[in-house]
Amino acid sequence: MEDGALRHRRLMRTERQLQRPAARVRRSRRTATQNDGLLWLFDLDNTLHDTSHAIFPRIDQGMTLAVAETLDVDIDTANHLRRKYWMRYGATMIGLVRHHGVDPHEFLHRSHDFDVNPLVRAEKALAHKLRRLPGRKVLLTNAPLHYARAVLRRLGILRQFDSIWAIEHMRLHGEYRPKPSPALLRHVLAREGVSPRNAVLVEDTLANLRGARRAGLRTVHVYHPGTPFGRGRAQRPGYVDLRVNCVSDLLLRRRPLRG
Ligand SMILES: [Mg+2]
Repeated sequence: MEDGALRHRRLMRTERQLQRPAARVRRSRRTATQNDGLLWLFDLDNTLHDTSHAIFPRIDQGMTLAVAETLDVDIDTANHLRRKYWMRYGATMIGLVRHHGVDPHEFLHRSHDFDVNPLVRAEKALAHKLRRLPGRKVLLTNAPLHYARAVLRRLGILRQFDSIWAIEHMRLHGEYRPKPSPALLRHVLAREGVSPRNAVLVEDTLANLRGARRAGLRTVHVYHPGTPFGRGRAQRPGYVDLRVNCVSDLLLRRRPLRG
């Protein structure tokens, strides 16, 4: 009897932790001492680390295989569906849930089921540089939570973030709304208790920055000239407040964004 009640309580707690963006425990402690202005929303892939080296090919392969296995289709069909759903919904998983009734958690684990540790490549002293940046930091990624936490841990910066919003947390009124949804951004800011003008999205993907501007946020574009991620963008678009070549360029500025 006692055991059953305990187990139930533990399950409920786990459920709550999954639904709420992670690491809220640290958040309450940190916000008490760090109340200085901006909330920085950081994207993960190709913003805080470079995926082109090894992670991107691995995710690419993992996603295709996961779609093929989950739907029992061949690799070409899996690739086609992946791309189609990614273009339409911003995340392959959303299309699989919506059109094929796939379990999102199972799929996310299957598609990102690899050890990130040997694959992560980052800038030097990232933890130190992040610590210099005044304001609260939150991670906002369309990737799964277990992957995001593993990458942050490997980068040595997990503790720099007050909370993590991953694809699992991006549900509004029962529908997944990942970046670049302005509604998602407004929801995140409401939950974090910050007005859009005091929030900044730091990202490599322009569409997400455009969505952020629609929600009233300020924007920093992490631009990768000379890589496939930076192709064809010589001009800074009007919805980008600041453009940097790597996240360190932002973190080492004396005044990152003028207030
Ligand atoms: Mg990115």
